Amino acid sequence: MTTQTAETRPFEADVARLLHLMVHSVYSTPDVFLRELISNAADACEKLRQKGLTDPALLGDDPSLKIAIAVDPEAKRLTISDNGIGMTREELIENLGTMARSGTEKFRQALEEKDQGKALIGQFGVGFYSAFMVASEVLVESHAAGEGEAWAWRSDGSGEFTIEPARDAPARGTRVTLSLRDDHASYADEATIERLVKHHSAHVPVPITIETIGD
Ligand code: ADP
Ligand code: MG
Repeated sequence: MTTQTAETRPFEADVARLLHLMVHSVYSTPDVFLRELISNAADACEKLRQKGLTDPALLGDDPSLKIAIAVDPEAKRLTISDNGIGMTREELIENLGTMARSGTEKFRQALEEKDQGKALIGQFGVGFYSAFMVASEVLVESHAAGEGEAWAWRSDGSGEFTIEPARDAPARGTRVTLSLRDDHASYADEATIERLVKHHSAHVPVPITIETIGD
C-alpha cells in the first residue's frame, strides 16, 4: 500500500554540500546541465535496450527509445523526458539523494580535501545535480520498466527532497521538469535548446525532439 502524502527526506551530507555549491555557483557556463540531463536520459534508454534483449516484454508496445524536450516560456519550465529504464522509489532515493554512485566518489573525496567548489565543478562531470544551477525546483517523475507504480521526486536543492506516488508520470521512463530561476528563464526557449543540443549532444545515439508547449 502507498500513502498519498509526500515523504520528506534529507540529502546525504555530501550531496547537500554539492547542491549548495550548485545553487550558489557562478559557474560561467551553466549550459552543461542540459548535456548532463540528456546524457542520463540516453543512458536510461541504453539500459532498457540492453535489458530488452533478454526480456523483450520490458519494451512492451513502445519499443522505440527516444528523448523529448519541451519548453514552456510562459511558465519558465523545461522538461526532459525519456522512455528508458526509469527508476523505482528506492532507486530515486538512492540515485538522486546519495553519493553512492561510483562516478561521484572521486568528487566526494576532492570535496573533502579542498574547498574549491567552482574548480571542482569544472573538473568533474557532476551529473544530475547540475540542474540546480538553473532551476529553483526540480521534479523527477519516473516509472520503472515493468513496475506497477510511478514515483515523483521533488527538491529545491536546499537540503531535502520529497518522494510521493506520481499522479502524472510517463507510461515508462522518466520526466525531469526544471522550474527555471528568473535569471535562467532563457533556457525555456526552443531555439536556445536546439542550439545547445546541436552543440553539446550531437553524438547522443537516441533521437531527440524539441517542442514548445503552453502557447
Ligand atoms: P551518472 O550519470 O554519472 O551516474 P548522474 O548524477 O548524472 O550520475 O545521475 C545519477 C544516477 O541517477 C544515474 O546513475 C542513474 O542511475 C539515475 N538517473 C538519472 N537520470 C535518470 C533517468 N533519466 N533515467 C533513469 N535513471 C536516471
Ligand atoms: Mg549522468
